[in-house]
Amino acid sequence: MIDERAIDEALRQVEQLRAEALQAISAAENTSRLEEARIRFTGKKSVLTAVMQIMPRLRSNDERKTLGAAVNAAKVEIETALEDRRLQLGRRELEARLEAERVDVTLPGTPVQRGYQHPTLQTMRELIDIFRQMGYAVVEGPEVEWDLYNFQLLNFPPDHPARDLQDTFYVTDDMLLRTQTSPAQIRVMREQRPPIRVIVPGLVYRDEAEDATHLSEFFQIEGLAVDTNITLADLKGTLTEVVQRFFGRERGVRFRPHYFPFTEPSAEIDISCFACGGAGCRSCGGEGWLELGGAGMVHPIVLENGGVDPEVYSGFAFGLGPDRFTMMRGNITDLRLLRHGDVRFLEQFN
Ligand SMILES: [Zn+2]
Repeated sequence: MIDERAIDEALRQVEQLRAEALQAISAAENTSRLEEARIRFTGKKSVLTAVMQIMPRLRSNDERKTLGAAVNAAKVEIETALEDRRLQLGRRELEARLEAERVDVTLPGTPVQRGYQHPTLQTMRELIDIFRQMGYAVVEGPEVEWDLYNFQLLNFPPDHPARDLQDTFYVTDDMLLRTQTSPAQIRVMREQRPPIRVIVPGLVYRDEAEDATHLSEFFQIEGLAVDTNITLADLKGTLTEVVQRFFGRERGVRFRPHYFPFTEPSAEIDISCFACGGAGCRSCGGEGWLELGGAGMVHPIVLENGGVDPEVYSGFAFGLGPDRFTMMRGNITDLRLLRHGDVRFLEQFN
């Protein structure tokens, strides 16, 4: 049934919705309220669209056109108002956010925790500095080494029993993870003529069951001095100086005869015990001394293997363990603590 007054009623509704919409838009206090108004008044299911459902009840095309035009005009007006309000609110919200998030550059910053060197690397640095002051150059060698350089040229023939003390991890039958940084001795002697004074810091490997005093991966500083008239006294003087500079002048240093295939004569270097000062206690197993490393006069065969004439030149070599130095100076009872990466333990030495 056609309602004669339907068009008037519909136009009145459009006008009312238009007024309500404009009122809601200008009252919207933030963009989410504004979005609610947009959906309510102009969305697909909005009240304004609902007015169009009256169309079939209108009497003529003219009336339909009139209503359609009124609805569209209202929509355009509402959308314009929405857009204006959106820009206005957006600016206001941006300003509010900028104000709220403003950085006060005068406030104290968040403290940054600074890192520090591992205690063993601190030891390495100190020892390297001491040797540098004594005229030693630093050289490095490969961690994966030929059996030839790691053993044979250093006077460990293939079936030599001393190899048992330095079992390691083999890459192939003739290539291995170096057991010492000593292979650099041969490389250096083949590359430069005496006088030679070098130290070789680096990681070395042993096929070792780890315990409180043994690691399968540890640091070593190898040293080599080759010149005319180098004697055992030079060796003793050099290492005593290094050890006392590192640990203190009050420390006693002792050289104890030992055997190494690549030096002759050979010695182990001991330092007087920190706990008892040499009298003997539990820390030193009653000995009064603690072992620091090995040393000796370079074996003539090794000099020859390096292309140096043993009739003209002599030299000394030594191997020191920075992990062990760290352990002794820091009063650490178990070497493995240095490798466990527990920061609570490590930061004590910072
Ligand atoms: Zn002791």
